[in-house]
Amino acid sequence: MAPVLPAFAAGEERAASANIVVTLLGTGGPEPTAARFGPATLIQAGGLTLLFDAGRGATIRLYQLGISSGKGIDAVFLTHYHSDHVEGLPDLWMTGYMFGPFGSRSRPLRLWGPSDGKEPSGVARIAKGLAETFSDDTRIREADEHIAAIATEIEAHDFQPDHVVFDEAGVKVTAFTVDHGDLIKPSVGYRVDYGSRSVTLSGDTKFSENLIKFASGTDLLIHEVFAMSPQLAKLPQMKPVAAHHTSPEEAGTVFSRVRPKLAAYSHLVLLGVKPEDVLSRTSSAYQGPVVAGEDLMRFEVGDSVVMKNWNQELRKYPD
Ligand SMILES: [Zn+2]
Ligand SMILES: [Zn+2]
Repeated sequence: MAPVLPAFAAGEERAASANIVVTLLGTGGPEPTAARFGPATLIQAGGLTLLFDAGRGATIRLYQLGISSGKGIDAVFLTHYHSDHVEGLPDLWMTGYMFGPFGSRSRPLRLWGPSDGKEPSGVARIAKGLAETFSDDTRIREADEHIAAIATEIEAHDFQPDHVVFDEAGVKVTAFTVDHGDLIKPSVGYRVDYGSRSVTLSGDTKFSENLIKFASGTDLLIHEVFAMSPQLAKLPQMKPVAAHHTSPEEAGTVFSRVRPKLAAYSHLVLLGVKPEDVLSRTSSAYQGPVVAGEDLMRFEVGDSVVMKNWNQELRKYPD
């Protein structure tokens, strides 16, 4: 049976609204499970569509929503260079320059990432490496399908964190340093401000005072979480992994200090633990509103934060 193309409305509308719309494209971690794709969060505001991290399957989730991975995405921001946050990028980049409603980008893919102090920086090395690795594809498609060379380019922007790193159409993106462990630097979270609305993404981090500082007054706080069963916690090889992330109890402390209108977990790395257990462990330190994210869960950040679940059968969100 031929695949049915989605309506491709969401990415095309770009309706002016005072709200920020956040969609969790992937809420999982490195495990290649169909239940949760790799970390990727879509933030739409001021007519812009911004992607934060490009984990496994991000392009598939965009296609489900009817958003083109080519002309539908205005910029991509990476939190750090761990594979689970980047491995969907080649797909997004190459599918995005192909002809079709899922692609058709006519300008370079714009990519932001934290500077690692090297020259070229991490994000520029990714851009250069992808161009070299896939030079046969770009050469063939430019000649055979007349894809414009500029559409196959990646424009890399590196930055020093703890500053505004992007400011277009009234949408400000601030990157801030988080603590993902001594060997995993740079690593940042992001805060997006649009009018009086804001959303903060933790990226990958342990309990971070700097995150609490930058998230101050935010409407929606999306935070990573790592939890494992007591049996697994006894294994010595699990210790370094746990030491790079935030436990539900620690996240509860973060939420109780930031006091967002809503807290949501994404990038749930759960080993022998269920999302309900994570929420109940969180409640030991935080009694405010918190949800365990699922792929394609959406949040509309207005005067209040409204959560909507994707209806796969109807291929839409409830009105
Ligand atoms: Zn990481
Ligand atoms: Zn990660």
